[in-house]
Amino acid sequence: MLDEFFSISLKKAVEAAIAEAELNTSGEIRVHIEKSCPGEVLDRAALIFEKLGMHKTKLRNGVLFYVSSKDHKFAILGDVGINQKVPANFWDEIKEEMKNYFKMNNYEKALCSGILKAGEQLKKFFPWQKDDTDELSNEISY
Ligand code: CA
Ligand code: CA
Repeated sequence: MLDEFFSISLKKAVEAAIAEAELNTSGEIRVHIEKSCPGEVLDRAALIFEKLGMHKTKLRNGVLFYVSSKDHKFAILGDVGINQKVPANFWDEIKEEMKNYFKMNNYEKALCSGILKAGEQLKKFFPWQKDDTDELSNEISY
């Protein structure tokens, strides 16, 4: 059921996962879900990143999880601050795990576990700070 991507329960679970992940890291995580992806998935994710103003974080450490439900595409896109610090294969393990959950049609688990893992991994490079603010909304954008 692809509509599950747009369900209230998935929305709640994902937003809770983002809030939890952001207790580990100053990185700001957002999720964007749409039915189909026009063009190349990474180009699309970059456009959405820009549209959501995700480059406006102080440390340039925003992370976008992009999913198109109908054509089964997804991407994880980190801002330049992250790319400068982490190894090139930083997202690979998370992507693999998410792919497996997607294959099992477990979309909620795919997103939530990916988000939580991202928080744990980012902690090393961008630990949560006492003066942390929620720079980017935790709400899913559609
Ligand atoms: Ca924050
Ligand atoms: Ca946030």
